[in-house]
Amino acid sequence: MTRPVHASIDLDALQHNFNQVRQLAPESRQMAIVKADAYGHGLLMCCRALKEADSFGLLDLADAISLRKAGFSHPVCLLEGFFSKGEIPLIAENNFEPVIHSDWQLDILDNTPLEQGLAVWLKIDTGMHRLGFAPEKFKSVLNRLSAMKCIKRVSIMSHLADADLREDPKTAYQLKEFLSRTESTGLDRSIANSAAVLAHPECYLDWVRPGIMLYGSSPFVDLSASSLNLKPVMSLRSEIISIKKCQKGDAVGYGSSWQCPQDMKIGVVACGYGDGYPRHAPSGTPVMVAGKLTQLIARVSMDMITVDLRGIDSATTGSPVELWGRDVSVDTVAEMAGTISYELLCGVAKRVKRQEVLHG
Ligand SMILES: *Cc1c(COP(=O)(O)O)cnc(C)c1O
Repeated sequence: MTRPVHASIDLDALQHNFNQVRQLAPESRQMAIVKADAYGHGLLMCCRALKEADSFGLLDLADAISLRKAGFSHPVCLLEGFFSKGEIPLIAENNFEPVIHSDWQLDILDNTPLEQGLAVWLKIDTGMHRLGFAPEKFKSVLNRLSAMKCIKRVSIMSHLADADLREDPKTAYQLKEFLSRTESTGLDRSIANSAAVLAHPECYLDWVRPGIMLYGSSPFVDLSASSLNLKPVMSLRSEIISIKKCQKGDAVGYGSSWQCPQDMKIGVVACGYGDGYPRHAPSGTPVMVAGKLTQLIARVSMDMITVDLRGIDSATTGSPVELWGRDVSVDTVAEMAGTISYELLCGVAKRVKRQEVLHG
């Protein structure tokens, strides 16, 4: 027997969510964002399910190369570009498309003779104030890039800061800045993340770049994934490995911060923050045990949590537990723990096996 914690990955749900993107933005090509090991779901497995995407976007050259080794011939965008000159030959050889966001990268490109031309994404900072060139510099940077022998194609991207705040005027401002600076270029353009795919059709342009929605989580605090017709891809599951009969007043776990309000049974689940369950999840966070909704009690430890078994008489050792997934939304767990689903999903530890769900 192995430790029962695992993440089951529903690739049908992933394809369903991808089809939502295609239905919403049928005129745009899709760059499926698979950074951070496909938001913790497993890169290769997810890319296989997303093979109809027009391209993939990720960060690490090693991950991009693993896609080529697995037989993917899709365009692959390196979202933070190259980090040093030494990476450029491999990038060119594999036809990867680095984002160019800073002057130092232009200087390196200027001094890098290449046999085959590079396709690059030029990034403009329209208001996020993170990566990208200032809008005023766009024309001169584009001219400089276009004049380089090693560049065969330039596409243009920007990133939205507040698209998840649906009424926030900053999105319209960023889009206007992006369109007006780039309008006469005739080059491919992209600005939409998941929140924009779901809420801002005017942002679709040539390429959309969905991430979190592919994995079935909502980018909005006030709209659930199910209300957006998204299906959760990951279910973090484990089992009850021990049941305790406690008496009224017994304190449970580190810090003895939770006391039993009555005589009751509690279940010990093999999953803790060492597996990626958030340590800050408070008592009351929903957990599914043996098909019934109950709550986390007491502090989360590295390898275990404890759950309330009042009203779940059928629970025994070996009963299945869902920490998040189909029945317990990862968005709810994230909100209770004071974070966002992105952090929980990509924080699932290496020691947790990813298992593909097989549909009968
Ligand atoms: C992560 C990322 C995305 C996807 O964002 P979501 O909010 O997950 O949809 C899109 N574009 C860039 C540049 C990114 O880094």
